[in-house]
Amino acid sequence: MARYTGPSCRLCRREGCKLFLKGDRCYTDKCAIERRDYAPGEAGRKRVKESEYRMQLREKQKTKRIYGLLEKQFHHYYEMANRQQGVTGENLLRILESRLDNVVYRLGFAKSRAEARQQVRHGHINVNGRRVDIPSFRVRPGDLISVAPKARDMLVIKSALISSERISVPAWLEVDIEKLQGSVLSLPQRDQIDSDIREQLIVELYSK
Ligand code: SF4
Repeated sequence: MARYTGPSCRLCRREGCKLFLKGDRCYTDKCAIERRDYAPGEAGRKRVKESEYRMQLREKQKTKRIYGLLEKQFHHYYEMANRQQGVTGENLLRILESRLDNVVYRLGFAKSRAEARQQVRHGHINVNGRRVDIPSFRVRPGDLISVAPKARDMLVIKSALISSERISVPAWLEVDIEKLQGSVLSLPQRDQIDSDIREQLIVELYSK
């Protein structure tokens, strides 16, 4: 399936909640969810019967969209999580959170995960001093993530840093704004992931 290229806000309206896909705009009253809190399309305002399957499907779609993944990638992560020891849903979230694009976003070097993905792809991010241009690269405890020297004066990074002042860096990461770098202290525990995701529903959906 091809990557979705339509309006991001439409995805939030489909899921009925803020997915924070557009950076600054998401925190203003211009946010589409604030203005039109119903699903897009002609049938958007109709009441839809909540079935168990529908809830599970929507939770999976929502999570996929938050992290900007396609079905195949997402399912691959689920299988990986299922093979690991521990609670599958929590393993899944931990894997998603440890993607380099997500970490760049969480550290405040990008306004959204989509912007973070672009920065990584363009070679603006180093891991342990070496350029890594793969957004799905998974960080490990002890890794040092930094903005590449040639990208330090980029306007987009500076404006992301200003915007990120309103977002707190999660406890499993540590950021040094002066040096434009951050380190991974540990992989996140469930209570350190602030996303409003009911991961158990995703596990139930895939376990059918
Ligand atoms: Fe979603 Fe952000 Fe658009 Fe609001 S502004 S609908 S949170 S992408």
